[in-house]
Amino acid sequence: MGDKLQPPPLTDDCFALPAGTEWTPVDSALAEIRRRLRPVVSIETVPLDQALCRVLASDVKALRANPPLPNSAVDGYGMRHDDIVDGPQTLPLVAGRAAAGAPFEGALTAGHAVRVLTGAALPDGVDTVILQEDVTTDGRAIAFHGPLKPGANTRKAGEDVDKGAVILPRARRVTVADLALAAATGHKELTVYQRLRVGVLSTGDELAEAGDMARPDQIYDANRPMVLGAIARFGFTPVDLGRAPDNRQKLRDFLDRAADRCDLILTSGGASAGDEDHLSALLNETGAMALWRIAIKPGRPLALGVWRGTPLFGLPGNPVAALVCTLIFARPAMGLLAGEGWRAPQALHVPAAFTKTKKPGRREYLRARLRDGKAEVFRSEGSGRISGLSWAEGLVELPDGALDIAPGTPVTYYPYSAFGL
Ligand code: AMP
Ligand code: MG
Repeated sequence: MGDKLQPPPLTDDCFALPAGTEWTPVDSALAEIRRRLRPVVSIETVPLDQALCRVLASDVKALRANPPLPNSAVDGYGMRHDDIVDGPQTLPLVAGRAAAGAPFEGALTAGHAVRVLTGAALPDGVDTVILQEDVTTDGRAIAFHGPLKPGANTRKAGEDVDKGAVILPRARRVTVADLALAAATGHKELTVYQRLRVGVLSTGDELAEAGDMARPDQIYDANRPMVLGAIARFGFTPVDLGRAPDNRQKLRDFLDRAADRCDLILTSGGASAGDEDHLSALLNETGAMALWRIAIKPGRPLALGVWRGTPLFGLPGNPVAALVCTLIFARPAMGLLAGEGWRAPQALHVPAAFTKTKKPGRREYLRARLRDGKAEVFRSEGSGRISGLSWAEGLVELPDGALDIAPGTPVTYYPYSAFGL
């Protein structure tokens, strides 16, 4: 493992925006992320049984054709098409048979038929098969009606996949069907990117660990279990970095340790420009920070930085904003870093079941779910309302401009599953 080639780290100014950038529209922010990030993980070869959900690091080609030989698609009798006439006829059977994995030895004599079973390689001379239900037989000959189509009930060699054809492209995430295709074409292992290791750190003096004793002025850390869970669902490796207090030196130590263990660091809280926003202050000190003021609700601002070569996304502290930014910005970024390339979530366009007057100037995401084909939204838009995140099954995306929505107005809906959740 030690001699594995590592891609170069991202540069410190990787996320810098041009001077004078004010509010960055969501689409521009995504375009910038897409332009700046590339795979940071190295490559490994894994056996098929460990390849599910991994990201392919190179095109996969068929090592052999599928099927490798012409074979029978049914249980029946094989013959030469040239021997078949129109109307009733009989053909004597030769001794022996062709079964899957037990081929017929020799070649079929002209004017004869041979017993063949599903999946059996066609004996030499056989080009057409008749279904056993369509013949009568006494064990020595078969009687049936012609005509038959040339090649009836047979499968051609390579009709599924030719040898050497690209069966799976680089950057694809391996599915269960892909495992079947790879196995069928001769693969026992696949070359994949190493799993992206994504660290999750919560920041804030007010945070207590879930289930611990909490002072009345403390709240439980809700973001960490949520974001760690999201990373696991995306197919990456979550790394729990714990909670850091609002203390610059301690936070620095947390980030130093994180940079050694992770390919990407996601923090939540402390990302704005307030007195206790130590994350943005620290990244600013090292000159590797860009505060992207993104025209999004909920969610601004998003701190993007590079800590000792490791990219860092500073998510907002509010749990709703933290999840929205994880799905809208961090998820596609992770895909790029992990070698998956760019994957835009697939939206549904559905009628609204709600009323809302949206002001222009920023994109909005509402906690939503589909009922009877219509998008319902949570009763409150407060970004501290975690119950709404749990109520929701996805997000409604409202465009940057103004919009008056009444029941029936078409809206864009992303089920959580569209992001890989
Ligand atoms: P901040 O961005 O640090 O100012 O935090 C914004 C809001 O989110 C504050 O109300 C925080 O208490 C809250 N918050 C920050 N981190 C978390 C967390 N991990 N879990 C739940 N709430 C949080
Ligand atoms: Mg804070």
